[in-house]
Amino acid sequence: MRLLITGGAGFIGSHIADKAIAKGWDVAVLDSLVSGRRENVPQKADFFECDIRDKSAVENVFATFKPTAVSHQAAQASVAVSVREPQMDAEVNIIGSLNILAACVAHSVDALVFASTGGAIYGEVPAGIRAGIDFSPVPISPYACSKFSVEKYLECFRVEHGLKYTVLRYANVYGPRQDPHGEAGVVAIFCNRILAGEGILINAKRDVGDAGCIRDYVFIEDVAGANIAALEGLIPDRILNVGTGQETTTQQLAEILQREIGKNVDMKPHDKRAGDIERSLLNGDRLIELMGPLVDIEDGLTQTAQWFKQCLSLPS
Ligand code: NAD
Repeated sequence: MRLLITGGAGFIGSHIADKAIAKGWDVAVLDSLVSGRRENVPQKADFFECDIRDKSAVENVFATFKPTAVSHQAAQASVAVSVREPQMDAEVNIIGSLNILAACVAHSVDALVFASTGGAIYGEVPAGIRAGIDFSPVPISPYACSKFSVEKYLECFRVEHGLKYTVLRYANVYGPRQDPHGEAGVVAIFCNRILAGEGILINAKRDVGDAGCIRDYVFIEDVAGANIAALEGLIPDRILNVGTGQETTTQQLAEILQREIGKNVDMKPHDKRAGDIERSLLNGDRLIELMGPLVDIEDGLTQTAQWFKQCLSLPS
């Protein structure tokens, strides 16, 4: 297997790279380093600094590395940024993705995995329901629209060109190496703030003082594992939810992390953030059927908190 990982210097892509290298695959990372870090890329992987919006640069990477499989993780990955800059979001997430799809066809790539979002494209998920892949998508942010568009383009490319793809609709992914300075990634942000003894905001689900939004948090090991399984042809589905189906409020998350880190900080109730979905929960039954039991949130948060603690104790 010759695997090219776009966005492989970022959080999720770098974990996929680690797993692929452990399997003995030849791995290359394509990343513009706009938010990713060169040090996240494993030493055994080739690295191409490249912007997916640059069609000829993408073409050069494919011609040089000659991948047989591609995991497409590179993206403008923030909902808030997409609301502020919808055109830039579309240029990276739609046009950039089309450059990857076209290169996959031109170079007869055998397997393509696309990082989509269950958290954003399903919109509001009513109480008592977990969104399965048949749940009607309601993409209400530019980010969700761009991800959903690429899912549609993938199907066009399958019909027109025989492109073999798997769409993985991730829930809220957390774990070691997540950027604590971005606008998303509440687990990383909370770990950083708790360790620094700084207060944390509990943005309201609806009313100030409630327990905050409900999310489906899935551990990075399971997300990277789902990518590897899809690349190996072990996932027959074209679209798969990558979530646990377990609901957690922001307040529960904050409490678990403070316990794990062994430090209590001020939890400040705050207004609802504009555009925040109140409840997002995926049906992950099919993922569990294909991959076995997923990492429990308490275990995943323990590992994540330990990692952030260790980072803080390392000399910078
Ligand atoms: P990340 O920001 O850590 O990684 C994204 C990587 O893409 C970065 O290394 C960045 O430098 C690179 N990149 C961005 N724009 C690029 C461009 N124009 N050309 C080349 N490289 C570019 O984000 P992540 O959390 O690892 O997300 C990976 C993928 O998973 C993204 O597609 C994201 O939309 C999707 N996703 C993430 C989550 C989550 O909870 N983290 C949830 C749903 C979907």
